[in-house]
Amino acid sequence: METIVSGARPTGQLHLGHLHGALKNWVKLQDHYRCYFFVADWHALTTDYATPQGINQSTVEMVMDWLSVGLDPTKAVLFRQSRIKEHAELHLLYSMITPVPWLERNPTYKEQIKELTGKDLSTYGFLGYPVLQAADITIYKANKVPVGVDQAPHVELTREIVRRFNQVYKPIFPEPEVLLTETQKLPGLDGRKMSKSYGNAVFLSDAPKEIDQKISRMVTDPARARRTDPGEPEKCPAFQLHKVYSTPDEIAEVSAGCRSAGIGCLDCKKIMIRHVIDDLAPFREKRAQFESKPREVEEVLRAGNQMAQKQAAATMIEVRETLGL
Ligand code: SF4
Repeated sequence: METIVSGARPTGQLHLGHLHGALKNWVKLQDHYRCYFFVADWHALTTDYATPQGINQSTVEMVMDWLSVGLDPTKAVLFRQSRIKEHAELHLLYSMITPVPWLERNPTYKEQIKELTGKDLSTYGFLGYPVLQAADITIYKANKVPVGVDQAPHVELTREIVRRFNQVYKPIFPEPEVLLTETQKLPGLDGRKMSKSYGNAVFLSDAPKEIDQKISRMVTDPARARRTDPGEPEKCPAFQLHKVYSTPDEIAEVSAGCRSAGIGCLDCKKIMIRHVIDDLAPFREKRAQFESKPREVEEVLRAGNQMAQKQAAATMIEVRETLGL
């Protein structure tokens, strides 16, 4: 079985964007690969180093969501990055051989420096986060890394670091390949990318009433200012949710109704809201069970940390031997 590694920053409760962007894929992948899925809490510090207080709680909330969508600890190793100190050791050794210009030309680095203007990101840790990522992936000798098409360059940097290590010392690491996964980008309630920090998210754990209220307020095609104005579904963020949740017949019906002003936006949304609520029903049920037994979540992480640590420790013995350390 080939190995896959992927991680997510502890953002607390997850939303529909996470579900369709990564989680649904992870749930499928766990049946076909040896999967390591980790809470990237050290990565959270690369941008949010000044506010580490919520990390513990966010970790538990996120893993609760992982388990509730169907990640199965008997199939995949679920663990917390900061509990496996070997990641930090390999990161250090990789940092010795990684040229700084490789990191400076990283498009995400440049983009985030521009975007996150409220934070001082001129730190060594932020510049070097792809080196930590390379360590996260390769310490489990991953063959593949599941990413959406826009994240493929990140894996390329890991491959470059691995190539360099294998050339300078000894070829002990496989070069991980990109496993392109189809992701569906869901807009948030205001039409921007769905994000907790924008306050525009539908959370997986939202109650049916909350889901109804939130999506009922979601922005639509601005051309439909009045009920009698015809619209264009492709210009409507709410229609993107229809495309994910509604049946082909329903999509055809609301598209025609939108273009002819034969249907009002609220009635149009109600059709899809019902599906969103139904789709999340099993999730809510499972999450309620975990909420009543938070110890179970901690136990899952403890067992996952142990399994991950065993593999990471074995890799580091090999690395230290290779370097004569
Ligand atoms: S009718 Fe439906 S698709 Fe058209 S603008 Fe309103 S919510 Fe969007």
